[in-house]
Amino acid sequence: MKYMKRPMILLVPYPAQGHVTPLLKLASCLVTRGFMPVMITPEFIHRQIAPRIDAKDGILCMSIPDGVDEDVPRDFFTIEMTMENTMPVYLERLIRKLDEDGRVVCMVVDLLASWAIKVADHCGVPAAGFWPAMLATYGLISAIPELIRTGLISETGIPEEQRKICFLPCQPELSTEDLPWLIGTFAAKRARFEFWTRTFARAKTLPWILVNSFPEECIDGKLQNQLIYSPGDGPHLLQIGPLIKHASIRTPSLWEEDFNCLDWLEQQKPCTVVYISFGSWVSPIGERRIGDLALALEASGRPFIWVLRPNWREGLPVGYLERVSKQGKVVSWAPQMELLQHEAVGCYLTHCGWNSTLEAIQCQKRLLCYPVAGDQFVNCAYIVKVWQIGVRIHGFGQRDLEEGMRKVMEDSEMNKRLSKLNERIMGEEASLRVMTNITTFTDNLEKHVVN
Ligand code: UDP
Repeated sequence: MKYMKRPMILLVPYPAQGHVTPLLKLASCLVTRGFMPVMITPEFIHRQIAPRIDAKDGILCMSIPDGVDEDVPRDFFTIEMTMENTMPVYLERLIRKLDEDGRVVCMVVDLLASWAIKVADHCGVPAAGFWPAMLATYGLISAIPELIRTGLISETGIPEEQRKICFLPCQPELSTEDLPWLIGTFAAKRARFEFWTRTFARAKTLPWILVNSFPEECIDGKLQNQLIYSPGDGPHLLQIGPLIKHASIRTPSLWEEDFNCLDWLEQQKPCTVVYISFGSWVSPIGERRIGDLALALEASGRPFIWVLRPNWREGLPVGYLERVSKQGKVVSWAPQMELLQHEAVGCYLTHCGWNSTLEAIQCQKRLLCYPVAGDQFVNCAYIVKVWQIGVRIHGFGQRDLEEGMRKVMEDSEMNKRLSKLNERIMGEEASLRVMTNITTFTDNLEKHVVN
């Protein structure tokens, strides 16, 4: 029963697709290093992923209750409440059970689920952080005290004025309106800001933070010096990304993927189809903009595949789906990687979520960017200004879309830049760096391993 005796690493993601995916990939890398990863998620995520993970993947999935009624939508604040108030007790109980024979050597905690750091401390299990996004976004969050000190934002995170600034040395400019917590009503912005300050305060106590990113360039093209993100005696930041290529697992989707659109794609000419997806949190786009985008796509005459969850279709014009049935496909959830790999897809209209950005770079697809919330503005700034592999649009009028498409498709250098970036962050040298950094982390854990 050697398999059963492997040292355990518990992994706790924030309960959303874009967080579960990279942690499962990390889990898969840990299996090959002789560990037994245990993915701990609330029941509503567990029942989607657990049946889709093969026993031979070597990852154990376990669930804890989140105490939320089935019919209550799990939005940001509901999830935050359960993470802070309900889930800790259940996680503690589970850890104590799993660790009965002292096999738990570490808990890797998604920093957006920083509540679990306290639980690990309480149980005496060493914790490491996992940052699922760009290092530049971590830098932005860690700059919060400085932003307050210099008067750029108030004590409650609200910008004093709207202007463009560099939040950290040599990063591309961002608008003060584009800070990750500025979503929704005034009260929502303040509450999200509190979430981020609390996250950062907890993260500071950790010895390690594993970052699902790679050395990023400055705006002048030079590689960023990590020290500006992790000065002094803060956590040791280890860049282990992108994890995309190193895991053998095909990460399960939280929703059923519509594979029929691949048959339709087969019939399209190379490089003609626009793929549209705003990730798993489409809600901030709003019905009016859904309607505008629908009309702009139709008017463009271009073939498209659009991921639109059923509850957002109310924004579609009456009779729209029938009208465009030859021109495009509207699906509830797509096999995104397969679509991006397909030669018929010419460009990806994206919200610039970090996983989607990495997947697009992996498949070398040009990006039309419409960031909506969170870290997407930082990612977009890198896509457009630093890597120059995409174009940003600011609205969904016919003109916005047509101009954006024209710019992104007519840039004759974009393919070369995509290929260069792909090689730099996913080529052999980069893979070696990822492997070495994961090994640095696991070697450190081996000291705690029981024999
Ligand atoms: N995704 C998918 N099918 C879809 C839309 C998205 O499989 O129809 C996946 C996508 O491949 C990515 C994840 O969902 O891995 C979204 O993560 P991302 O960080 O891009 O955005 P988020 O949903 O966190 O905003």
